Amino acid sequence: MEIEARLEDVTQRIAGVAEKAGRETGSVNLVAVSKTFDADMIQPVIDCGQRIFGENRVQEAQGKWPALKEKTGGIELHLIGPLQSNKAADAVALFDVIETVDREKIARALADECSKQAKALRFYVQVNTGMEQQKAGIDPRETVAFVTMCRDVLKLNVEGLMCIPPADEYPGPHFALLAKLARGCGLEKLSMGMSGDFETAIEFGATSVRVGSAIFGTR
Ligand SMILES: *Cc1c(COP(=O)(O)O)cnc(C)c1O
Repeated sequence: MEIEARLEDVTQRIAGVAEKAGRETGSVNLVAVSKTFDADMIQPVIDCGQRIFGENRVQEAQGKWPALKEKTGGIELHLIGPLQSNKAADAVALFDVIETVDREKIARALADECSKQAKALRFYVQVNTGMEQQKAGIDPRETVAFVTMCRDVLKLNVEGLMCIPPADEYPGPHFALLAKLARGCGLEKLSMGMSGDFETAIEFGATSVRVGSAIFGTR
């Protein structure tokens, strides 16, 4: 299948599950994850009308997105990978949405940069739903307090929660936990679901799915 056909297939599948779950088609956004693929592969997806993209490394994104954004208006770029505070300035300059806020140090660095650069970004707090040692994200038990601090003290525009469930488990309970935590925080947006499980994520209420290989091919 060509990349255009794979994008169409993913879009159709999203619409199909959304409808089955009794949700409006437009209630689930597709974040096309273009990490490791270069501008030549990304441009055809932009040409199909896709506008929301995800990258997991600041430096890699800096190498391709300024030119792509220059060429096409209305691109919305999401940072979906871990962020170091020394990269906060670059991240705020390039990205529109940062999905991986998970500790106070980075939240403060982002708040500082937003005011310095006079930019209004949108943010998600990443939750480590599986409490995995090696994985980024805040402990589920600390999520409500952390979100409250980000919103009320740092004035970050936190719009939702994001998670990456453990690779070797059925993701349903993780998606359910994220949805429950979001309700507890009064947040409506849920970024969850990747190529292998985005349909399940939509059943559990995802408002945003992050799909890479099902569109761009294997990395
Ligand atoms: C790479 C990545 C994805 C996309 O994964 P696929 O399995 O290729 O769809 C989604 N979310 C995050 C955080 C990623 O790093």
